[in-house]
Amino acid sequence: EYVIVNGEFVERSQAKVDIEDRGFQFGDGVYEVIRVYNGKMFTADEHLERLHVSGEKIGLKIPYSVEELKVQLAELIIKNDLKLGTIYMQFTRGVSPRNHPFPAETIAPGFTANIKHVGRPSENMDNGVKALLKEDVRWLLCDVKSLNLLGNLLAKQKAVAAGCFEAIQHRGETVTEGSASNISIVKDGKVFTHPATNLILNGITRRVFLDLCERNQIPFAEEAFTLTDLSEADEVFLSSTTAEIMPIIQINDKPVGAGASGPVTKKLQELFQQEIEEQCGK
Ligand code: PLP
Repeated sequence: EYVIVNGEFVERSQAKVDIEDRGFQFGDGVYEVIRVYNGKMFTADEHLERLHVSGEKIGLKIPYSVEELKVQLAELIIKNDLKLGTIYMQFTRGVSPRNHPFPAETIAPGFTANIKHVGRPSENMDNGVKALLKEDVRWLLCDVKSLNLLGNLLAKQKAVAAGCFEAIQHRGETVTEGSASNISIVKDGKVFTHPATNLILNGITRRVFLDLCERNQIPFAEEAFTLTDLSEADEVFLSSTTAEIMPIIQINDKPVGAGASGPVTKKLQELFQQEIEEQCGK
């Protein structure tokens, strides 16, 4: 297996990072995960542009353009013969003696990328998953895809320990997002999802399905919804790069709607599949 370390391809077993990398010590950096279908990246531009935006928001300049990154990642796919899976990449604020203030801008960011061969979660996409409600105790820069994931991990772990796939986080009465996904509801045929503010990550999968709603006359609104709206929803689904569009059929101990995947979720999955095939082939 080959990985990228600071722009160089190296054997995974030979890859090394410094113990004073600020990503390691502070979580001081940003990351992306891109899906690969048929050996081709899905929505690569959107992910790599978001990477630049995340970097800008924390004053970390990504030293490669979107095009340059695409070339490196395409080579990583080929070198690893990746057909179906994901690419993970991260940029940290580099290596410097541990000290909270940012190091000089002459310190090069630390860049690593690696791949994972992983199938699509077909069973969960068909049958749906359970979710657990969890107060959102994270910070107020959730729009940055930052390496600091402790709040998300605590939410995910609580859900998994309760036998659930995902946590649905809420700030008081307002539902924000999952631990590693966006959350949407369907009520009377209309899709609702939290607007792209500082309280959520503006998911690429979220943007794709909203665009699909727009193009296919499926009513939608980027409007925050409450815990009451959630409990009265006809359908609930999560969306993310790895989970795609996945029905949530039970929240805590209560079934959602009829307790099975609903028609709007299924329609969005079908349209999403077409989008994958258009970009990456069958
Ligand atoms: N929200 C959070 C907190 C995430 O970590 C993720 C992705 O893993 C998402 C939303 C979904 O984003 P995307 O669709 O770009 O994968």
